[in-house]
Amino acid sequence: MFTNTLGIIGSGQLGSLLCQAAKKLKIKTVVISDDEYGPAQNYADKFIYSKYENNEKIKEFIRKVDKVTYEFENIPVEILKEIDKQKKVYPKPDINKIVQNRKLEKTFVNELGIETTKWAFIKKIEDINKHLNLFPGILKSNTLGYDGHGQFILNSLKDVKQDWCFTTDYIFEKKVNLKKEISVIITRFISGETFIYEPIENVHIDQILKYSKIPANIDKKISKKAEYNAKLIADKLDYIGTMCVEYFIDQENNLLVNEIAPRVHNSGHLTINAFNISQFENHVRAVCDLKFEKTQKNANAEMINILGNEIEEYRSKTFKEGEFFFDYGKKIIKDKRKMGHLTILKK
Ligand code: ADP
Ligand code: MG
Repeated sequence: MFTNTLGIIGSGQLGSLLCQAAKKLKIKTVVISDDEYGPAQNYADKFIYSKYENNEKIKEFIRKVDKVTYEFENIPVEILKEIDKQKKVYPKPDINKIVQNRKLEKTFVNELGIETTKWAFIKKIEDINKHLNLFPGILKSNTLGYDGHGQFILNSLKDVKQDWCFTTDYIFEKKVNLKKEISVIITRFISGETFIYEPIENVHIDQILKYSKIPANIDKKISKKAEYNAKLIADKLDYIGTMCVEYFIDQENNLLVNEIAPRVHNSGHLTINAFNISQFENHVRAVCDLKFEKTQKNANAEMINILGNEIEEYRSKTFKEGEFFFDYGKKIIKDKRKMGHLTILKK
């Protein structure tokens, strides 16, 4: 069925950029969000402010849309499944069950024969003592992490306080001696056709993405392998829409999957200006079952994430040709919060 109205769950910068991509395709958007100030309300045709557990509001949302997608993966799967009974939700809710849970996600990737960091599932403090080979490592909450939230670096057993009381499950991951981080963004259509954006090189500071660029300065073999694995993952998940695979490259040139993001991704913001069709537009095209259009790169690019009060300086700056400043219009400035980004096109 032709999609006139796309429902989007979540109202941050990713939701905003999805709304703008939909508008370009003449598709209306209804955004539902539990953030009263979510910036996507400035771009959506309709905005519903509500807790996701509010049945009445979810019903109103369902009535108003033809299809549904989401900008973040931490929505309870049960809510997505309820919506999916009435209006198709893409990517499919079951995918989220895997991807929002680090243990299931890594198991899924490892079972495809794809390497990840070495890791162990941690339920109680004593479990850490059984994995001395993983030191120095990072303890990550098994679910609900983003931008480094819920992560603790443990350099040695001394950092493990025996009176810690775990109220949630964790995984403990060996710290990789990173040479580089890259990501591969792929859009998969209902027809099974895929478009793979070339690998993007990323720099994180304090576990938050700060810089991205294309082309990634990596050898061809790693680049091909990263693209191949991303396609394998998308095909196996029967994924519909845009997703991202984040990778680590260690000092020995091993390519390791860090995590899968079942959504458009911050590292792909540069696709807005560097490609004829961005990751956002391809996502909307895929979930709304529009035709796949040939996607190609127009320019190389770099992207800088603007965090916290850095935004103030950018708001008064003038930009040169080939520089594109995005202000997400977030009302509250918080330390390390993603407030905007700048993309610079390169020859
Ligand atoms: P989030 O879900 O918050 O994005 P990630 O697991 O992707 O969490 O971690 C964020 C960043 O922290 C990574 O991109 C990387 O820079 C750093 N990091 C996370 N895990 C490791 C690891 N095992 N070894 C080295 N660096 C890591
Ligand atoms: Mg990450």
